[in-house]
Amino acid sequence: MTETCTTCPYCGVGCGVVVTEGRTGWSVGGDASHPANLGRLCSKGSALTETLRPEGRLLYPTVDGQRRPWSEAVEAVASRLQETLDQYGPSAVAFYVSGQLLTEDYYVANKLLKGFVGSPHIDTNSRLCMASTVVGHKRAFGADVVPGSYEDIELAELVLLVGSNLAWCHPVLHQRLLHAQRQRGTRLIVIDPRRSASCDTADLHLPLAPGSDVMLFNGLLAYLEQQNAISPDYLTAHVDGAEQAFATARTEAGDIATVARHCQLSVEAVLAFYQAFATTARTVTVFSQGVNQSSQGSDKVNAILNCHLATGRVGKPGSTPFSVTGQPNAMGGREVGGLANQLAAHMNPNDPADVERLGRFWQAPALRVGEGLKAIDMFRAIHDGRIKFLWVMATNPAVSLPESDMVRDALARCPTVVVSDVIDSTDTLRHAHITLPAAAWGEKDGTVTNSERRISRQRPFLPLPGEARPDWWIISAVGTALGHGAAFDYHGPADIFREHARLSGFENDGRRAFDISGLATISTTAYHQMPPIQWPVTAADPAGTARLYGDGLFTHPNGKARMLAVAAALPKEQASADFPLILNTGRYRDQWHTMTRTGLSPRLSAHRPEPLLEIHPADAARHGLEDGQLAQVHSRHGELLVRIQHSDSQRQGDVFLPIHWSDSNSAKAVVSRLISAHADPFSGQPESKHMPVSVAPF
Ligand code: SF4
Repeated sequence: MTETCTTCPYCGVGCGVVVTEGRTGWSVGGDASHPANLGRLCSKGSALTETLRPEGRLLYPTVDGQRRPWSEAVEAVASRLQETLDQYGPSAVAFYVSGQLLTEDYYVANKLLKGFVGSPHIDTNSRLCMASTVVGHKRAFGADVVPGSYEDIELAELVLLVGSNLAWCHPVLHQRLLHAQRQRGTRLIVIDPRRSASCDTADLHLPLAPGSDVMLFNGLLAYLEQQNAISPDYLTAHVDGAEQAFATARTEAGDIATVARHCQLSVEAVLAFYQAFATTARTVTVFSQGVNQSSQGSDKVNAILNCHLATGRVGKPGSTPFSVTGQPNAMGGREVGGLANQLAAHMNPNDPADVERLGRFWQAPALRVGEGLKAIDMFRAIHDGRIKFLWVMATNPAVSLPESDMVRDALARCPTVVVSDVIDSTDTLRHAHITLPAAAWGEKDGTVTNSERRISRQRPFLPLPGEARPDWWIISAVGTALGHGAAFDYHGPADIFREHARLSGFENDGRRAFDISGLATISTTAYHQMPPIQWPVTAADPAGTARLYGDGLFTHPNGKARMLAVAAALPKEQASADFPLILNTGRYRDQWHTMTRTGLSPRLSAHRPEPLLEIHPADAARHGLEDGQLAQVHSRHGELLVRIQHSDSQRQGDVFLPIHWSDSNSAKAVVSRLISAHADPFSGQPESKHMPVSVAPF
């Protein structure tokens, strides 16, 4: 019997799993020694070995539909990329990557495109996940840092869930919260337009009007000031910008009745929330996609952070704001600069000194100052012909990006589309000129970073099937074929990890929060055995760091945090006579992304075998929609056919659809077809949770 300790590839909780090979096959259990989950698993994690099936795997490289050996496929990618460079310049080349990649894969992809091809246009599906939080954290703290640890949820006396269905989207964290509720009587307030499963144990649920979060938290900030519940000494010593933030909150939301009206809540409910926050020092605010996926996502994040800064509740045990990311390696991608507006090791693409520093470290002749195109703008640039070469890695933008018909059209028009994936039949793959078979979970070898900054190993326990190869190997092979062999001469993921760790400490005077230089000389053996560890990991803190900023020292150059004056704004599109209902989107408990993996498990698929449009019974009656009947959903971008489910968990006027189904599975319900690509002006994150639609019987 062999056992492998590895990390679950689904959500940002990053649970440790133990995979055991027995006489009858593989089994999986929670890793009791992993600090993220302490042995727990959710339904998706428990079913991991059910998804280890050979059917549907992409096993061989193809070029223009023909199977080719790796040498020819790599040469085809390199030559078409070089032709694009020669004819149109580096800005005609883009990579669209994924929070599913391991940190080592991500690092190499970013290095090749930005450093050696010379294009800044690498972005990731993490843009759809937590890009607004990145902006909010940088504005408030000076760095893209989650200050707390999961343990803080258990140490809190009050937990707020804002725009988060933790019970379904981060189930093991929810299990830890339930345990704290049982053991310590932790109070729970859920702020979410839907009455989700996370409300089952809530002391209070605020079903606020979609998009009204800034008003609600500005009201809280004004209330804290009125009640003398702020920390003046902390503000004086550690925070800039407080006066302007308080003034805006006072003017806009100084009266609870006004806030309640704007948010469509009762005055009593708003007051109960404000009183609970004001009187509970040990408060953790967990926020997620309901905050991020908005045309005002960055300001929503700062409205939340303002309240924590005003009360000095940042990075202290049981007292901190806490962003939970959707993807297994959203944070690892940010560490290596996988977003178009970041450089590796938390360096700034708009700072010439950082660009020079990174260029020198990589000895990369092509690195330029400036940001690349974020996801939506990248696909628009492909659509209008500015980008001619696209390499998609480990993601399915034809299903996941808003205005997906435009995205599919862009893919169809692009002269060269390369797709690296593990599945042979995704909607995106249909548009590929070159397909490259990548290693899947169970075969991959590297690291991921979860929502509490914990770096954790994904270890292989299966041989590579067919001719599949690790992503870092594929990218390095193309880099070598382009003539940059010395920069991509990696012999394994440990080599890449050491370089990544060395870079994090390179000329880092503390201005960059991400620092794992304490691991820069890790031996290959120690890398393979590396236990989960939270960054920063430095010579001074070789065992990692559980919390940041608890001492009031932040990453902005003057060491202070910043409160930001943020004013409430409406979502970009409102309900109308033609589109009278507001569509919200989200996840089901037992599916992951576009179901290419979880869809293989009959057990997981049994939870919700098809997508259902949830609608309040009163709205259903108004629109003549019977429970269980098929209905047509229209927005100004497209339409789809789904079954109706009456649900009084929905507010009247709102409907809900899951994100998982695609044209590659039976339901053909690509919800992103309906969604506008309105994005937050600072983060570029699209507004995926507020789209006017009509629903009519089929
Ligand atoms: Fe995997 Fe997330 Fe479930 Fe943990 S909570 S087992 S990381 S899906």
